[in-house]
Amino acid sequence: MKKDPVCLMEIDEGEAKAKGLITEWHGQTQVFCSEQCKEEFDDSPELYASAPREFDEDEEGDYPY
Ligand SMILES: [Zn+2]
Repeated sequence: MKKDPVCLMEIDEGEAKAKGLITEWHGQTQVFCSEQCKEEFDDSPELYASAPREFDEDEEGDYPY
């Protein structure tokens, strides 16, 4: 599982690939849930891709929803 860097949704890489909702950025594969998120990322990749990635599991319980 990978994370959509824009909306932080968990994405199945194979599925994203099949839909073309995938992009390579600085050697990293980024996957998206929708065209909108992909466009958002393509617009300003540094805004999303540079976000720290270490907090994957610790933050789970802190989401407000
Ligand atoms: Zn998304």
